[in-house]
Amino acid sequence: MIDQFGRSIDYMRISVTDRCNLRCRYCMPNGAACEKSGEILRYDELLRICTAAVELGITKFKITGGEPLVRKGCPDFIAALKRLPGVEQVTLTTNGLLLAEHLDALCSAGLDAANVSLDTLNADRYRKLTSSVSFTPDDCLRLLESCCEKGLRTKVNTVLLEENRNEAVSLAQIAQKLPVDVRFIELMPIGYGGTLARVNPDEVLRTLLDRWPDLHAVSERRGNGPAHYYASESLLGRIGFIDAVSHRFCADCNRVRLTSTGQLKPCLCFDSSVELRGLLRAGCTDETLVETIRNAVFDKPRAHCFDARENMTEHRMMSEIGG
Ligand code: SAM
Ligand code: SF4
Repeated sequence: MIDQFGRSIDYMRISVTDRCNLRCRYCMPNGAACEKSGEILRYDELLRICTAAVELGITKFKITGGEPLVRKGCPDFIAALKRLPGVEQVTLTTNGLLLAEHLDALCSAGLDAANVSLDTLNADRYRKLTSSVSFTPDDCLRLLESCCEKGLRTKVNTVLLEENRNEAVSLAQIAQKLPVDVRFIELMPIGYGGTLARVNPDEVLRTLLDRWPDLHAVSERRGNGPAHYYASESLLGRIGFIDAVSHRFCADCNRVRLTSTGQLKPCLCFDSSVELRGLLRAGCTDETLVETIRNAVFDKPRAHCFDARENMTEHRMMSEIGG
């Protein structure tokens, strides 16, 4: 559907849980009191919201969290979502820890693509950044190979941090060995992300150009997001940049978010949201649900204000909102 600023909104990011099996420094370093399970939307409630969203032209869904695969039944939910008439694409964002265990089920469910988050190839640094007890970057690389063997379209997401800025070339080299896109994400001032230094993505691009001088911008669209991509003859996958802060792309924003507790959130930067759980549990009609979503999407703000943080009203952690 078209929002008040003429943008076409066709993409919803759904957080199925606020729990996670890692503690990434910029996301939920100290953990957090998680919502009680009764507060989290049941899968049947999520499917009802998705059905209403499809009616409004939202046809692409990203399953996220917290860590989506820690929630029991996630592959079955994805299969059910894929079966909903009008759903064109369902993708997943995961830290990878439980992906090997669920990969077959996710492929059978018809998952269209997976984004795997990996911020460093250094085992020590990975442990420090994520508090991982046993999963390592090498495990993650093996997992990426398995995804490729299964024919699952796969991308790597790397948040740029002081700690990993010198690893950009090594991380990008994943796209030399495997047909996966490697995307560098600018740290957003959400939750703990606001307490850490931001790395300039243009500097990282310059480093990559030193290594692959033929790296050139390509205009192809490779997913639902705002990433801009670069290609090189030497790379099987593309290098992407998601620069939400320094290269604001709000004019083309196509998304809304649903938190695990059922708040429909039109913009990451602001705490305004529409409470769908209460509506569902009060027995609303399908028409009311569709109208409520329509109004919330229509009112989506023009732009974020990450560069004027005093105006930000969202103060929750990324894992609580759904990254
Ligand atoms: N647990 C899953 C994962 O790590 O992929 C899914 C949820 S996580 C919140 C989704 C993505 O958001 C991850 O790629 C993570 O690195 C990214 N992320 C979290 N906090 C961020 C921040 N402040 N700025 C930019 N990206 C962030
Ligand atoms: Fe968990 Fe993902 Fe947040 Fe890391 S980024 S703490 S894996 S939700």
